This record gives sequence, C-alpha cells and structure tokens, in this order.
Amino acid sequence: MRRRGAPVLAILVMVGLLATLVSAAQVESFTVGPLQRYSLIMNLDAGDRVWGSVSVSGGSGNDIDFRVTDPVGAVIRNYGRVRYGASFDFTASREGAYTLIFDNTFSIFSSKQISVTYNVEAPFIPPITGAGGSSTWLVLILALVIIIVAVAAVESGKERRKAAVTTTPEVTARIYCSKCGAENSADAAFCRSCGAKIMRSEGI
Ligand SMILES: [Zn+2]
Repeated sequence: MRRRGAPVLAILVMVGLLATLVSAAQVESFTVGPLQRYSLIMNLDAGDRVWGSVSVSGGSGNDIDFRVTDPVGAVIRNYGRVRYGASFDFTASREGAYTLIFDNTFSIFSSKQISVTYNVEAPFIPPITGAGGSSTWLVLILALVIIIVAVAAVESGKERRKAAVTTTPEVTARIYCSKCGAENSADAAFCRSCGAKIMRSEGI
C-alpha cells in the first residue's frame, strides 16, 4: 500500500524539474520596414532548444523571409517566404548567438508587423557532443528510474527496521525488584539480590 506513494513522489519531482528547465514563453513584436531586415538575437548554450511561432501581417502578402543562423552565421533553418505565420524549432549545437532573421528586403513599399512567441528549454545536463534533443530525455528517464529505486529502497529499509524491533526476544528484557531495585531477568520469580517475590503488573 505504501509503495504507491513512491511513483507519485517521483512524478512530482519530475514535474518540478521540467518547470525549472522550460522558461516561460517570450513574446517579441516589431515592425520591419520596406527593404529592411530585422535580427532577433538569442544567446544560447549548447543543447538549448528554441521553439515557437511567428505571425506576419502587412503589405498585400502578409509575408516575410524567415531564417535562423548559428553563431558563425551559417543558416541552420530556412523557412523561406512565410505567409501569415509559421512555427519554428531548433536546437543550439554550440554556445553563442543564434539569430532569427526577418528579411523584408524583397518588399519595396510595405512594412510588416511581426510577432514572435518563443520558448527556450535548457537540457537537464548540457550534452558533451552538442547533440542535445533525445539525450536530454534519456537523462530525464534515467533520473526518474533512480528516484523510484531510491524511494523504494528507503521504504523497504523502514519496514525491515520495524520488523527487527518487533522480533527482539522477550528473554533479554529486564525487570527491577520493587523492594531493593536490583535488576533481574524478566522471567525471574524471586529477586536474585534480596529474594523478595518479583511483583509484576501484568494486568495493566
Ligand atoms: Zn530485591
């Protein structure tokens, strides 16, 4: 019966961990003028995952060119000409500045209103290789298993200790003489010191 508490506790711990790993969603709103380009820069650690959505309005097409570059300027995601909106998702392979580029240079007359909603999720343990993604989940599952095993071990340890106390032999117990106070074994009929009859209050 008591074992049922262990997985529940583990799940609560995991929920708490996840809550600290995932930051609250951020929202950035800005206008990109005609023939302009807007850069939204994010300083990330290796393994950080960024995901969210973009909404575009303005001009006749409600569109903008959207891409993501890594710290050395290489394009890691190219969403092309986004109309009205798009979702995005990428994981930083190295530490540094990642840039979400909103390119309106194709538009000669129109400004575009952009709204970006995004989340940054840090890995449980930063990946050594920078692979991120699935290794984060592997570590989380491993942590969950360790927590369940640890809680179960503590619970069974408690039960074992309780059992040890209840099986302590009665013969090792001691009784004190009501007349002289000498210590006698629990089964003694007469005091080994003064010879008085050992009084017991067994009725209580
Ligand atoms: Zn005695």
